Amino acid sequence: DIKKVNESYFGSYSSFGIHREMISDKVRTDAYRQAILENPSCLKGAVVMDVGCGTGILSLFAAQAGASRVIAVEASEKMAAVATQIAKDNGLWRGRPQNEGNEQSTGVMEVVQCMVEEVGKSLQIQPHSVDVLVSEWMGYCLLYESMLSSVLFARDRWLKPGGAILPDTATMFVAGFGRGGTSLPFWDNVYGLNMSCIGKELVQDAARFPIVDIVADNDVVTNAVLLQTFDLATMKPDEVDFTASAELEPKLGGLESNSIKSNSTTWCYGVVLWFETGFTSRFCKEKPVVLSTSPYIPKTHWSQTIFTFREPIAMASGNFSTNKTAAIGTDTCPAGRIHLRVSIARASEHRSIDISMETTGIGSD
Ligand code: SAH
Repeated sequence: DIKKVNESYFGSYSSFGIHREMISDKVRTDAYRQAILENPSCLKGAVVMDVGCGTGILSLFAAQAGASRVIAVEASEKMAAVATQIAKDNGLWRGRPQNEGNEQSTGVMEVVQCMVEEVGKSLQIQPHSVDVLVSEWMGYCLLYESMLSSVLFARDRWLKPGGAILPDTATMFVAGFGRGGTSLPFWDNVYGLNMSCIGKELVQDAARFPIVDIVADNDVVTNAVLLQTFDLATMKPDEVDFTASAELEPKLGGLESNSIKSNSTTWCYGVVLWFETGFTSRFCKEKPVVLSTSPYIPKTHWSQTIFTFREPIAMASGNFSTNKTAAIGTDTCPAGRIHLRVSIARASEHRSIDISMETTGIGSD
């Protein structure tokens, strides 16, 4: 049931290893740090709420940026206690003098231990009185863990009309990958021995469950297509679930410049999904920032999410439309494009998500 799911979810955030992993992800942490510290017109003097503060790192950045009050909300008891201690140790704690004895209360940060959905009960704050909502809510494949709903809940309850939300956009991308994106090449040749049966079995398994791993940019064999974009400032809570389509075409470049290979077949073994979040100039006027988890930039702890097809799809590369009848060496005529339809929905009573995918090959006419 949902209580057990939440217990094990918040329990998993009680161990320090996961926080170390997130903080050590420099792409991630630097993006937030820049967005918070380098946009004084957004943060200076602001009342800030941090949804899921963990160690408190984003709240501490907000305090350093000159926020007038920072409300750090964390459901994990362990992490809420740790964040409180860290705020004190850094002179950023906003102690309540009557219960804090002689501890200094010069800071601006307070920690509320509860789910953000319950904040009203344990904190004196008026609804719609927060200037800036900050959260690092993104999961694997963006939506795994379904924490976005909690951020939208906090937005609708606590954020001022027109208040800032950091980040304020989230975009999912998709692209096709080739054989090199699977386990096949590794098992083909192991110290000169053929272990390809393992590779084949792994590909069958991968067609049932997505894999979180890095895809090398040169294993991407199609263009990258924007699948879905969320505007966190305006989206409705039920828009977290969506269906979207993308048309994948063989990537131009390597194959094209190799003249012998034009009109050849590109095999697409599956698709890779990744996301970007934007701290756009809407709220981050001085320094807009993009946090990207794409295969084209240094890797993050999110890696990418890999969905393998049951059978690879042959795609015609090169000048296909003028030479449709060229012998390709397969029974089926290769597709000029792959039409992909993706649906993502939060699984009921779970923190997981249900993803379904359909592909249709389309000729190049
Ligand atoms: N902000 C920190 C931690 C991010 S991980 C950082 O950037 O390093 C997300 C955190 O949100 C976890 O600590 C998790 O326990 C907490 N969390 C998730 N959903 C929550 C909710 N609904 N209410 C309060 N805390 C939540």
